[in-house]
Amino acid sequence: MSLNENLEKLTNACGVTGREEEARNLLIKLMKPYADEIGVDRLENVIALKKGKKSKPKIMLAAHMDEVGLMVKTVTKEGFVQFAKMGGIDDRILLAQKVLVHTQKGTLQGIVGSKPPHIQKEDERKKVVTYDKLFIDIGAENNKDAAKMGVKIGDPISFDVKYAKIGKDVVIGKAFDDRAGCAVMVETLKQLESIECTVCAVGTVQEEVGLRGAATATFGVDPDIGIALDVTIAGDVPGVSEFDTSLKMGKGPVLTVADSGLITNPKILRLLLNAAEESNIPCQLETGLPGATDAARMSLTRQGVPSGTVSIATRYIHSPVGMLSLKDMENSAKLTVAAIQKIQKTF
Ligand SMILES: [Zn+2]
Repeated sequence: MSLNENLEKLTNACGVTGREEEARNLLIKLMKPYADEIGVDRLENVIALKKGKKSKPKIMLAAHMDEVGLMVKTVTKEGFVQFAKMGGIDDRILLAQKVLVHTQKGTLQGIVGSKPPHIQKEDERKKVVTYDKLFIDIGAENNKDAAKMGVKIGDPISFDVKYAKIGKDVVIGKAFDDRAGCAVMVETLKQLESIECTVCAVGTVQEEVGLRGAATATFGVDPDIGIALDVTIAGDVPGVSEFDTSLKMGKGPVLTVADSGLITNPKILRLLLNAAEESNIPCQLETGLPGATDAARMSLTRQGVPSGTVSIATRYIHSPVGMLSLKDMENSAKLTVAAIQKIQKTF
């Protein structure tokens, strides 16, 4: 299947932080044809092993399977769902969103509602309605009806957005953070033919709440080198200055120099830059942006793992719908493959 088709399937799947099952099952299916072994660890990370001629160096690729979303916190007497946030979501983007409540009995559609603005007081209208004042309307008559529909405390809630191609290379969809990285990881495995070193491609859990899955996965895999495949903030929209970020959608994979969790190992950064140059892949450098990726956690595991990040400049991340360039995805996979082939020679 093509990168576009894989991305469509992966982003349409649900995998709110801590409830990654649907995304994980799909990722297992997509990686299986290219892996020698595939398994799930006790925290429920998926680990696909591709054996090389030698067992060392061992390279760990990490892409997180979880997405930011919501969770049922309580149901009011009248049958409205109140919720907690899973991961960093801006309250301002929640109002009037269509969402899906994933219950044991099946998936329910709902709308995020608030007190109608028409009857809000003047000063209320000027303020952001925080998430604790919002609710999800699933059309239930009351709390008993909601229970009959299957709603339980703890059920995950995702945004109801479907993937679409809207330009030659431009696509929109939910959960690009980080199913885009998952799709790049599948593509990388697909393109890696006979290799000298060993590659572990890991779909991690619970990244959005503190890089948790990467902690246990890295300990278990015990890699020599770590590369996180993720997305980052594209700044090519009105109101963003070059100083804020110079990253642009469609201008190539992004290599992190430093973020709030990682200062990329200089050898790894040089390896990635050289691989890009030799393969004529355009790339962009990022530094000083807030946030961190699984590479931060990988780098601090055991005695330390030299790590780096290959990211895709994505617009509107952590909102219900993001936008990215398929060309950046293709180039990210190409660059990761080229870097792995170079590692064989240089490490
Ligand atoms: Zn991410």
